[in-house]
Amino acid sequence: MTVRVRFAPSPTGYLHIGGARTALYNYLFAKAQKGTFVLRIEDTDLERSKKEYEELQIEDLKWLGVDYDEGPDKPGNYGPYRQSERLDIYKKYAQSLVDRGLAYYDFCTDDELEEMRERALKEGRPPHYEGKWRNEEFFEEAANRLASGEKAAIRFKAPGKSYTLHDNVRGRVVFPENMVGDFILIRSTGLPVYNFCCVVDDIEMKITHIIRGEDHLNNTVRQMMIYEALGSGLPEFAHVSLLIGKDRQKLSKRHGATSVVNYKEESYLPQAIANYLVLLGWSHPDEKEIFDVNDLGTEFDATRFSKAAAIYDLEKLKWVNGMHIRALPLETLQKGIEEFIENDHFYFGQSEDWKKSAIELYKNQIEFFSDFQKRIDEDLLNPNVEVTDKLKDVLSWETTKQIHGFLDKKVKEQKSDFLSKDNFDSLFNELKTDLKIKGKQLFMGTRVCLTGHDHGPELGDLVPIIPKEVMQKRLSNIATLF
Ligand code: GLU
Repeated sequence: MTVRVRFAPSPTGYLHIGGARTALYNYLFAKAQKGTFVLRIEDTDLERSKKEYEELQIEDLKWLGVDYDEGPDKPGNYGPYRQSERLDIYKKYAQSLVDRGLAYYDFCTDDELEEMRERALKEGRPPHYEGKWRNEEFFEEAANRLASGEKAAIRFKAPGKSYTLHDNVRGRVVFPENMVGDFILIRSTGLPVYNFCCVVDDIEMKITHIIRGEDHLNNTVRQMMIYEALGSGLPEFAHVSLLIGKDRQKLSKRHGATSVVNYKEESYLPQAIANYLVLLGWSHPDEKEIFDVNDLGTEFDATRFSKAAAIYDLEKLKWVNGMHIRALPLETLQKGIEEFIENDHFYFGQSEDWKKSAIELYKNQIEFFSDFQKRIDEDLLNPNVEVTDKLKDVLSWETTKQIHGFLDKKVKEQKSDFLSKDNFDSLFNELKTDLKIKGKQLFMGTRVCLTGHDHGPELGDLVPIIPKEVMQKRLSNIATLF
């Protein structure tokens, strides 16, 4: 059997991170099994579905590296891959169920249905359909009304028995009898409902495994009924755990952005998002936390899905992003960083050596490309002093005044725009040998005078990329604080 899986988004908004995770799982499973991955657009909700969202979702999937074998823009043997283009197929299937007495035409109005519902609730019964049209004696009347051009919904006759699902993640799930009443397959407008199209398509597209969120379990029982009625075996199901926030509530904007596009805009790396999402509800056989999802082959083993809800932790995602940034080749990193620096920024006026030194220095300290400019602005260009208790303490040392006097003179004498690494080393040595200052006094005094901060990167790497002019201003600002 060749594996065929699908991701079936509704184009009613941006690609959600939960959807992206489902897509990744299907993509990786197909890849591991040398199977086929289908993208199917579930756009039968004509009011909410927009072509624009379809395009944006596809763009975000591609950005994440999720590539599919068949889809609306990748013809295969089972198209069309947009449900709105398959309406005739659903009609044919629904008619076959009607012909076999497993579904019926229903002429009830919305008001009648609402009345039925209210009555059932008042009498403490489940609000199941109990209209007359399910009874065979009205089939003829139904046929006549249809023939005279009246519109009717096609409703499925729920068998009322219990169903048991053997889910690859959740195990044995029992749906009690009468849990579900008769439900609509095709509305009177001619538009089919999700549960029906989904099963028809999964059968027609020869889908073998369905990996999707646990929130779909309640749909599964309806879908099992339809598979049965259509005389088709079930695919294998894997309902993966829900994503929740740290407060164990349903994931929402409070826990961070929920659309992939937001992360793209915030300069997250696609490979970091993919890595992080895959780990929400699945674990690597070698317990690896940082990896390129494209390197996953047979390691992507569907028995490794977790049953427990997965906690979406933005801090962890940021950490993962930082780890992927550090793993980038320097040139790629530079290109990425430069996209997030303002066009007229100081950075672009500097030599290639300077740029490379700055990137080498900060690559271990940033979590996003966009952090880089912030660090340059603060560490290299802002002459203001950050007055903290620790800094005040350093300024109170006699040695710091000596260092200040020495550096103020030496920096002024400098001819070039920057102090070279060698220059800085020799100044540092002079402070040691001539002024006899050492250890903490030497390091902290020099740091405060030249950087205006009481902490920061290694001085030997940092000082050679601070413009002389900025150091001079910092030294003047420090002078006012003694
Ligand atoms: N269109 C459904 C959704 O977006 C697909 C569910 C399924 O995978 O069956 O949730």
